[in-house]
Amino acid sequence: MDQQQAPSVPNPEALKEDGMGCHSGAETMLAAAAAAGKSETLQQYAADYPRGPHDQPQSMCPAFGSLRVGLRMRRTQTILSGSACCVYGLTFTSHFYGARRSVGYVPFNSESLVTGKLFEDIRESVHAQADPEKFDAIVIINLCVPTASGVPLQLLPKEINGVRIIGIDVPGFGVPTHAEAKDVLAGAMLKFARAEITAGPVQAPRTGRAQKPTITLLGEIFPADPVIIGMMLEPMGLAAGPVVPTREWRELYAALDCAAVAAIHPFYTASIREFEAAGRKIVGSAPVGYDGTEAWLQSVGTAAGVAQDKIDGAKNRILPAIKGALEKLPIKGRITMSGYEGSELLVARLLVESGADLRYVGSACPRTAWSDPDREWLEARGVHVQFRASLEQDLAAMAEFKPDLAIGTTPVVQAAKQASIPALYFTNLISARPLMGPAGAGSLAMVINNAIANKSRFDEMKAFFGDVGEGHNAGVWEDIPKDRPEFREHTRRQVIKLQKRRKAEEMI
Ligand code: SF4
Repeated sequence: MDQQQAPSVPNPEALKEDGMGCHSGAETMLAAAAAAGKSETLQQYAADYPRGPHDQPQSMCPAFGSLRVGLRMRRTQTILSGSACCVYGLTFTSHFYGARRSVGYVPFNSESLVTGKLFEDIRESVHAQADPEKFDAIVIINLCVPTASGVPLQLLPKEINGVRIIGIDVPGFGVPTHAEAKDVLAGAMLKFARAEITAGPVQAPRTGRAQKPTITLLGEIFPADPVIIGMMLEPMGLAAGPVVPTREWRELYAALDCAAVAAIHPFYTASIREFEAAGRKIVGSAPVGYDGTEAWLQSVGTAAGVAQDKIDGAKNRILPAIKGALEKLPIKGRITMSGYEGSELLVARLLVESGADLRYVGSACPRTAWSDPDREWLEARGVHVQFRASLEQDLAAMAEFKPDLAIGTTPVVQAAKQASIPALYFTNLISARPLMGPAGAGSLAMVINNAIANKSRFDEMKAFFGDVGEGHNAGVWEDIPKDRPEFREHTRRQVIKLQKRRKAEEMI
């Protein structure tokens, strides 16, 4: 057995100080994980998910992406292996987002990590959970510390009592965003399902095998979008296939059994690798707005071998309705936008086609071949597209373009509101809407125009509150708060001293 497969002793480096985590710095964690036998996985992640200007997650814990995918699947048990604080945060977030399932957890302490007992505990827990009456699959996710310590999930059995066991490492220092962590699990499941298909007959979809050739939709989309996409595909003799990440194991087979794959979200690199290995063609972008829908119908029709007259028929049926919806609900105003869902460029196209003066779109996801059509279309219209955008870049764009509306992540929205700029959260208010075809064409206008019209309220609030609640004024007070610059100075000196001491210790 090589080192990758069987690191005999987990890495005790992971236990220094208060343990490693997102605060430890990616390089320390990467070095520890590599020393513990995870080089191969980390090299694959580095190739699939190239890093950007920041070396650690700037949004929520990336593992949330994998956890969410597991929790949304029927007959699937998802178990976390990681520090209790990380697991607390992840379970909190998953229940905040409406998970109706329990999250499994295999706890550890310094001793069980260092002696390898943690791996034995994980093995024991998957054996205890592997009930084929209840589950098709058990997903076990190594968070940062177990990954850095080399807990070898790949040594778990592939199946127990017919229940598939999927072990994945999802460390924050190797997978930069929660969006890409969805791909880690979706890709691992597709790989497993592809091997099952190669080995022999597999389960048909719950509703039977599709009568028409299907287009698999890659990326989590608004529930109505697949229905609308299906309507747009129908004149070409095609149907919408499953959405990946799927909601059930058997849908994975149907997803692989398609005429072509629409990479609606372009960052699913590991999943695309599996589809390509299965001989499927991949199409980028999505049917958003007039130009986007026209180009997408053409690419999908061509990839699926549809005759040109049928492709034209589909376009003629749907494009006038999109044009009408865009004209009926125009968006007026200058906008900057950023997010970490991976659908930012699609929303950006819709904004531009709706008439918005969009100056900047930042995505925490990396550039891929499948985002090129959208990037090129946006850049040709003068929009600055920033992949692996950092918070600093998003804020700098807002400062430079002084938008009427900033759409962004929580810290961007907070900064915008402080500067009296109306702002909307990308994840909750923008990406969770229908975007495709005629339904998407008018869906953003109302919420955006209303937000822009609120500018005067921000100015009034700013004038009324002044600097109340800022800096040393923040919090709830019974007396008038006093600034204490000497306290801050004292703490600053202490921190400098501590840093010097750490450096000196490192040099010994
Ligand atoms: S698992 Fe998530 S929260 Fe925990 S240390 Fe890693 S990135 Fe941070």
